[in-house]
Amino acid sequence: MTPEEFRIHGHALIDWIADYVEDVEERPVGAMVEPGDVRSRLPEHPPTEPESFDAVMADVEQIVVPGLTQWQHPGFFAYFPSNTSYPSILGELLSAGLGVQGMSWVTSPACTEVETLMLDWMRELLDLPERFDSRSDNGGGVIQGTASEATLVAILSARWRATAGAVNADGNTTKLVAYATSQAHSSIEKGLRIAGVGTERIRVVAHDESFAMRTDALEEMITADRAAGLVPFFVCSTHGTTSSMAFDPTSAIGPICEREGIWLHVDAAMSGIAALAPEHRWVNDGMGYADSYCTNPHKWMGVNFDCNLYWTADRTALLGALSILPEYLRSQAAEAGAVIDYRDWQIPLGRRFRALKLWFAIRCEGVAAFQTMIRRHVELTHDLAALVTADDRFEIVAPHPLNLLCLAVRSDGDSGAATDRLIDAANATGDALFTRTVLDGRSVLRVSIGARATERHHVDAAWNLLTTLA
Ligand SMILES: *Cc1c(COP(=O)(O)O)cnc(C)c1O
Repeated sequence: MTPEEFRIHGHALIDWIADYVEDVEERPVGAMVEPGDVRSRLPEHPPTEPESFDAVMADVEQIVVPGLTQWQHPGFFAYFPSNTSYPSILGELLSAGLGVQGMSWVTSPACTEVETLMLDWMRELLDLPERFDSRSDNGGGVIQGTASEATLVAILSARWRATAGAVNADGNTTKLVAYATSQAHSSIEKGLRIAGVGTERIRVVAHDESFAMRTDALEEMITADRAAGLVPFFVCSTHGTTSSMAFDPTSAIGPICEREGIWLHVDAAMSGIAALAPEHRWVNDGMGYADSYCTNPHKWMGVNFDCNLYWTADRTALLGALSILPEYLRSQAAEAGAVIDYRDWQIPLGRRFRALKLWFAIRCEGVAAFQTMIRRHVELTHDLAALVTADDRFEIVAPHPLNLLCLAVRSDGDSGAATDRLIDAANATGDALFTRTVLDGRSVLRVSIGARATERHHVDAAWNLLTTLA
């Protein structure tokens, strides 16, 4: 592709993206394809001669897009939000255009410094403790690809601290025990498996009727594990579980972890961003106790995937666990301790300029736009809850403090059959998309209200759809 062609196709692609975003509502929300459909419509072998960009885009339009779940669709109520915004899309494009590697400060100083500034800005915007600030004694933040990577980094830091750096000395890691509820994200178990702690050493702490961790159960388990000669080392407190948006009580869990010397990680991937609106800052209550914390602007803040913000108050443990300095990466700036080398804060070595999309979004949309969106989604959820409550056929099965409503068909009893049928029937219309979860053995329809384009009439239409089909 020549520079001239790049200009032409680039301008056209921006137009294409804007059309896609503005008209996405006209498409079915869920992909109406069977397994293998997409691949079978594409050539089996790669081309030997270059093809025109227009030919590629024709396949995107006719084959790829119909094979997508339209996450930006206003009728998207599935999983969790994954919203984008125009400035963040441009930031992503610019990152690709600059093509820099930001693994160390010296490999692209501005890449590191803008990122550090973004983490400090976001710490302030979310009202997180100052000990997470990059200018604090021993804290700081970094952009990770995903909450799953942030969780793994937290586990590795905790393991380093609990073993005083002797991770592999005899039996050290195999004595470690971690704690979370059954509602915690699957990435906790995955991270613990990767770290060599293993599934047998994960304690599933009982939850209360609101699906939040019971601290009496946590304390009992810690005591029993200590008595058995094991070493409690990691607690994950989730603020907004994926299944039902339950909040573990970090203000009560924190003192236990502090007393026991256990690393406390708070996973607020989905809901922590709500703190952008001051009246929702309670979502981060208890953070003064946390050793680490993460949230995802790539879910509910209009910063396209991937952008996870991870903070720790214990930089020593983080660097102890992850920093390795091969000769070819030595630099005077790093050795003088004057700079941050983010490669020591994450699993991979290489990293792109992800801070751009966050910076662009904050500057060009303004925080007020995100606050307005969050407030709208919370209000829509609240109002939908009132409609559900007034309808005998349904019941709400979990607290709904923000933008997720969990409901079930009342006649179901324990079977879940009618709720499951309703989800399938609603999704088959292509007008809305819901996902299911199971809470205390019961099938539940989740209504996650978080797409940027979702307005009141979309939620009304979705409710209409559910009541018509029920
Ligand atoms: C979405 C989510 C995750 C996983 O997020 P990724 O960034 O996709 O890894 C983890 N924890 C919670 C609570 C989530 O909502």
